[in-house]
Amino acid sequence: MASVFLGLGTNLGDRAGNLRMAVKALTGLGDVTSISRVYETAPLYVLDQPAFLNMAVRLETRLAPLDLLESLKDLEEELGRVASRRYGPRQIDLDILIYDGVVLETERLSIPHPRLAERRFALAPLADIAAQVVHPVTGATIAQLLAALPDNPDDRVEASAISLS
Ligand code: ADP
Ligand code: MG
Repeated sequence: MASVFLGLGTNLGDRAGNLRMAVKALTGLGDVTSISRVYETAPLYVLDQPAFLNMAVRLETRLAPLDLLESLKDLEEELGRVASRRYGPRQIDLDILIYDGVVLETERLSIPHPRLAERRFALAPLADIAAQVVHPVTGATIAQLLAALPDNPDDRVEASAISLS
């Protein structure tokens, strides 16, 4: 069994519903053993789009990293079709943030997620459920990485009142 931390993001349609359906669907890939709070996040790279909801979960799974990636892509596709036009924008992003102590760098998959250490929207929810987990490349804990982020007023990530239960 591997202990994996996944990042979930959505900014289209029924965002809370998208997260709820994603968490439910993830139980088909293993055991979801921790769930972070939901965070509301100002868009970062492309500013002209709605705010995101982000969260993180721990998944205990027997799937190898590439098999897990394929399963996540299938889920993204399935969930994107539920509330959207068939070829409309994707409603959910499922990223592998940390997979045990694995360090992997291939064209299709990089673990840990290559931009994890610079993304408050990924680190903040992850710190809810994995504060003391060590990032296998930097050697820092998730809590330390979050604390080390530079202050930037545009980088707004706030715990939301939305609860999935
Ligand atoms: P992003 O998540 O950066 O917004 P996408 O979801 O479109 O972008 O992902 C683009 C590609 O990133 C995926 O097709 C996948 O092959 C690749 N990828 C590399 N590393 C990872 C990872 N750790 N988790 C998820 N996808 C990854
Ligand atoms: Mg992705």
